[in-house]
Amino acid sequence: MPLEIIRADITTLHVDAIVNAANETLLGGGGVDGAIHRAAGPQLLAECRTLGGCKTGEAKLTRGYHLPAKYVIHTVGPVWQGGGCGEEALLTAAYRNSLLLAEEHHCESVAFPLISAGVYGYPKAQAIRVAVNTISAFLTDHELRVLLVIFDRAAFQISEQLFAGVQAYIDQHYVDAHTDDRSLQLRRMERYAAAKRPAFDQAPSCCEEAAPYAAPFPGTCGQSAAEGSESDLQHLLQQLDEGFADMLFRKIDEKGMKDSDCYKRANVDRKLFSKIRSNPQYRPSKATALAFAVALELSPEETAELLQKAGYALSHASKFDVIVEYFILHRNYNIFEINEALFAFDQKLLGA
Ligand code: ADP
Repeated sequence: MPLEIIRADITTLHVDAIVNAANETLLGGGGVDGAIHRAAGPQLLAECRTLGGCKTGEAKLTRGYHLPAKYVIHTVGPVWQGGGCGEEALLTAAYRNSLLLAEEHHCESVAFPLISAGVYGYPKAQAIRVAVNTISAFLTDHELRVLLVIFDRAAFQISEQLFAGVQAYIDQHYVDAHTDDRSLQLRRMERYAAAKRPAFDQAPSCCEEAAPYAAPFPGTCGQSAAEGSESDLQHLLQQLDEGFADMLFRKIDEKGMKDSDCYKRANVDRKLFSKIRSNPQYRPSKATALAFAVALELSPEETAELLQKAGYALSHASKFDVIVEYFILHRNYNIFEINEALFAFDQKLLGA
């Protein structure tokens, strides 16, 4: 099941469990802990008093009381002390023990805040990395919907190096596509005006020497519509190219992948994958088509081919496209890392 990164107040989410970044006393505090206690009401504190605290890296469960979530999983992340005091292992344990507890209580959906990334001072880019790595590793063999909840934009920082790389690529490609000089703008307006002119103004495009989309099918140039017989049409329909789903499943077989490996690596829901399996005509969204290209580690050319089969193309006029292209060109097929970058640049995510 997929991992989603969303911006929200965790206390408002309708999920089976929300995770609280608590302290070892479990008796309430500031930050997300305070917000959860305020929203859940005093019964939450009363139940917490019966739990006898919680050690760093461990997790305990209570009911959600007035929260829309059924349960609260209280976990304690490490206080950042420079990184040499086992902070990463403790933060990993906090996520993992919370996930195990959610599963033990048959939760189908669970939402996490960025544990330790507030007053506990864990560097944000590293805290996100630990969260994403631990959750995505868990999801490779567990069926659960996990939300990583970012409260304020400032809390979301990807590694400086990754950010700089993506930003440079956007500057080079996306910005270019949006900073045409005046002559290019005039030419584009002229093209637009020409396209709007009535058809009798123009030479038949299928006979123009350099017309880019002239006569896509052999033998159609010079034929009137009436002449295009039904049997021609039938013939063309029998020769349709391989569709999106066909190419997807062919590639899965060629790569020797299991279906489940593919949809998990694509961060795509199992139900959506079954829909594509059972309906060869299924037309995915662009984000889903790209998620599969990433899961299959397709080359830029193969990615273009798969996208085209779903009716899409990558464009330098779209920041989303430029960012995904950056990762594919760098052969970085980690969908969660791509999604971190997309989130950091305010774009929709791949897969989920
Ligand atoms: P810690 O003590 O583990 O650092 P904090 O509560 O100080 O815990 O912060 C953890 C993260 O929770 C921070 O990134 C903070 O921005 C975030 N946070 C605070 N309030 C909320 C909320 N209502 N919903 C989701 N996240 C929140």
